[in-house]
Amino acid sequence: MKESPKSLSVIVPCYNEEESLPTLFERIEKVAEDWPEDYEVVCIDDGSSDRTVELLREQNGRNPKWKVVILSRNFGHQAAVSAGLETVTGDVVAIIDADLQDPPELIKDLIEKWREGFEVVYAVRKKRKEGILKRAAYFCFYRLMKSMTEIEDFPLDSGDFSLLDRKVVETLVAFPEKNRFLRGLRAWSGFRQTGLEYERSARFAGEPKYTFRKLLGLASDGLFSFSGVPLRLASFAGLIISCFSALGALFFIVQKIYPGPFRELGLPIVPGFAATIVTILFLGGVQLLFLGVIGEYLNRIYTEVKGRPEFLVAEKVGIEESSP
Ligand code: UDP
Ligand code: MG
Repeated sequence: MKESPKSLSVIVPCYNEEESLPTLFERIEKVAEDWPEDYEVVCIDDGSSDRTVELLREQNGRNPKWKVVILSRNFGHQAAVSAGLETVTGDVVAIIDADLQDPPELIKDLIEKWREGFEVVYAVRKKRKEGILKRAAYFCFYRLMKSMTEIEDFPLDSGDFSLLDRKVVETLVAFPEKNRFLRGLRAWSGFRQTGLEYERSARFAGEPKYTFRKLLGLASDGLFSFSGVPLRLASFAGLIISCFSALGALFFIVQKIYPGPFRELGLPIVPGFAATIVTILFLGGVQLLFLGVIGEYLNRIYTEVKGRPEFLVAEKVGIEESSP
């Protein structure tokens, strides 16, 4: 069993969370009594348009352990967490959501696991409180992801709520990737990992800040950045369809040369208008589909090649410039 960590950093990405923040402050300050003396909570404002920044500044005024990184606009959840990872200094780093769906009380248990020698402790969502459709979508996504990636033990149903050792944080920060799917990178990075089950609560207040489009973006980042299977799928489907059309062609040639047996079977030669149209439409569809797949990869290559930063920091509150 290791000693308790000397310092702890907690990363909280916040996007229009004015309704949840007061309770978040309260609950974290309460559980922080069990945390190492030297802790910091780094809140990332991801371009909120409500009073989020104001509340965070006030909190920093009340308690300087609360620090704020203000991004120049909304860059998305993954970018906000990355900004946090670059900023924090703790020996162990926890990542939680601002909407209290991830209970801050659990961080203590995550630290216990770290003391047992694990470098990555991720929380596994046992029960979700979201609607059935969203739950079904999550269920399918994680299983699809697991079956398509090369990561041996891609953890199912675990989000970004986790505790990372300094070593892991440094590895993650050093990744040059821009299309970040952190839970994937985290699994990919290896080290000693373990999961801890918890019940995911419903959102404390406000609407989910992940719109359907953003979720879809996250899911496709996950799939396309961690798997080449969709590309391979294209050649596979192409192969199967070509085989079928070759068989079909053979059939028609034989039928043309020896029409007799086919006529007896009740298969006369008819001008196959419907069949032609169906074939053309089908092949057109498949081609477009896989053009789309290639487009997804191309778009990711394009983003990486441009090399633009993943986020821009507008201001830091309570963080000395000397820290990275
Ligand atoms: N979030 C963010 N930027 C965004 C969307 C969300 O920083 O563009 C934050 C949000 O404030 C919350 C966390 O990411 O702390 C998770 O968002 P949400 O609760 O909407 O996601 P869900 O729990 O539905 O997956
Ligand atoms: Mg949430």
